[in-house]
Amino acid sequence: MNGVNGSSISPGATIGILGGGQLGRMLAMAAAQLGLKTHIYAPEVDSPAFDVATRFTLGRYDDMQALQAFAAQVDCVTYEFENIPAETVAALEHLRPVYPDRAALTTSQDRLNEKNFFNGLGIATAPFVDVEDAGALARAVAQIGRPAILKTRRFGYDGKGQAVVRESADLAAVYRSLGGLPCILEGVVRFSREISVIAARSNNGQFSAYDVAENIHSHHILAKTIVPAHISTGTAARALDIAAQIATALNYVGVFAVEMFVAEDAEGTERLIVNEMVPRVHNSGHWTLDGAVTSQFEQHIRAICGWPLGSTRRHGRIEMQNLIGVEAEAWHDIMSEARASVRLYGKQEMRPGRKMGHVTRVFEEN
Ligand code: AMP
Repeated sequence: MNGVNGSSISPGATIGILGGGQLGRMLAMAAAQLGLKTHIYAPEVDSPAFDVATRFTLGRYDDMQALQAFAAQVDCVTYEFENIPAETVAALEHLRPVYPDRAALTTSQDRLNEKNFFNGLGIATAPFVDVEDAGALARAVAQIGRPAILKTRRFGYDGKGQAVVRESADLAAVYRSLGGLPCILEGVVRFSREISVIAARSNNGQFSAYDVAENIHSHHILAKTIVPAHISTGTAARALDIAAQIATALNYVGVFAVEMFVAEDAEGTERLIVNEMVPRVHNSGHWTLDGAVTSQFEQHIRAICGWPLGSTRRHGRIEMQNLIGVEAEAWHDIMSEARASVRLYGKQEMRPGRKMGHVTRVFEEN
């Protein structure tokens, strides 16, 4: 089939996906449902996405020869993992279209760039200061106050690469605990809720977002997502506007998430503070597989192919629960529940903190 509307991708084409975790797995399944083939490229032998893809390559992200061979076999490239080296994406961009592009990746990979980018758009963040060494940390603490959160600029996720600077903390020790890497120091936000917007922008500029999700974390890992979030309609509209603004500014293509804090003043007025943007499908959007007309995985594939984006309409009020570590042992019991849709990721080894699957429950809207 030939491409339509300027898109070079048609059913029958092959989507290359960097990263072989559960996100790659769910992307590959969504692509298959749209008549596409997938080729996963990942360095881990037991990648859950390998089981469901048309083809896979086991390779490191710095193996340029293997990456070139991979590119030659696909029509476009996307990723399910935001810590792909920017050089890998740069090399692939010469060979095939890569969505989201390098600008989106490099902006979101570095917390300092990302926060400067948000502030440049007039989007509020926690106060932050660049910390290049232990001496700079003392100056930053004098500016931000305590407690504060020290975060490595790069490669942080699920609370990794973070340390709280408490009243009594020895600054040199805190700085060393993060490996002496370039960091930012952030002020602590007294938030009432954490929310996220999952949105998509197509390579022809169409934008679409799901209703705002409310996220509950346990030990820094997402435990539960509830949709719609318990926020005012005005706050929800502002959250979607922020996501649209970010997508337009980056000329973004694909699905992305924007994580935000909701802070309330004494009168209960809600204020939004953006924490980060994640340039890929996101755990807080997993509910869309069973709770929306179009899943975030299908939406991402549509967006990068330049196809019409699908409806984001919800089937009801949603609760999505991650099955983390031993929680996944309950899969059998959960399957007997009338409302539960269980998804298991096919991971062989159950480790504490490891995301093994999730369950979505859809309720009638109150
Ligand atoms: P992050 O790695 O930036 O996504 O942070 C992980 C989690 O730490 C967030 O989901 C929040 O629960 C918490 N957190 C991060 N930054 C802040 C902040 N500036 N103030 C309060 N809590 C934060």
